[in-house]
Amino acid sequence: MGEVAAVVPAAGSGSRMETGIKKQFLPLAGVPVLGRALRIIEACRLVGSIVIVVSPGDETYCSAIAGELGLSKVAAIIPGGKERQDSVYNGLLALSASTGTVVIHDGARPLLSPKELEEVIKAAGEQGAATTAVPVKDTVKLAGKDGFVSRTLPRNRLWLTQTPQAFRYEIILKAHRRAREQNFTGTDDAGLVEHMGLPVKIVPGSYENIKITTPEDLVVAEAIIKARGQ
Ligand code: C5P
Repeated sequence: MGEVAAVVPAAGSGSRMETGIKKQFLPLAGVPVLGRALRIIEACRLVGSIVIVVSPGDETYCSAIAGELGLSKVAAIIPGGKERQDSVYNGLLALSASTGTVVIHDGARPLLSPKELEEVIKAAGEQGAATTAVPVKDTVKLAGKDGFVSRTLPRNRLWLTQTPQAFRYEIILKAHRRAREQNFTGTDDAGLVEHMGLPVKIVPGSYENIKITTPEDLVVAEAIIKARGQ
């Protein structure tokens, strides 16, 4: 798998959070959301370096968080772009040319497990591209524009995709470059690899690895942290 680098997009505006502080910087049981994600990535023995992508102007604040947590693998803190895809692309360009595998993890997901992180990196080393995901629990329906159900999708084949996702560096770089050339926007990085026609391996993730998006997500996250005794 070569040298493993992590890219952590954290340049979102957090507009659905309804607080003055961006969601990635909100404290969760005393540690910022982004800091919790970074701590897990830093502790992963497979990861050699971390590039954090933040909104222009947030670099110093982010650097202070990394300093407070004593993180030693942070290689760069760089400005992101308009969309998440632009931010990840900036992160990919900031990686060292010796990078073999890239793991991408949203700074807004503080509850990833060390095991899923390690497994998705290993799967990318073997398969080229891998994503964590969990089976859907509810029945999913495809709706038409008229607001009526068009059809019911087969639940036993549906997965909710999360991050971390991991890739061979040359694959994800090519996928992002191609998406930019074609003006294709995906909602995750694995989607860009699929768009190139390449396979993406599914690695089972965990239901606890929620993305902090709206205020009630913080309540759930704090309950999980309490139950874990963290
Ligand atoms: O907005 P959403 O919750 O989907 O964002 C997922 C992750 O992407 C978050 O960690 C967010 O900070 C990051 N992001 C980014 N640059 C953007 C938009 C989102 O790095 N322009």
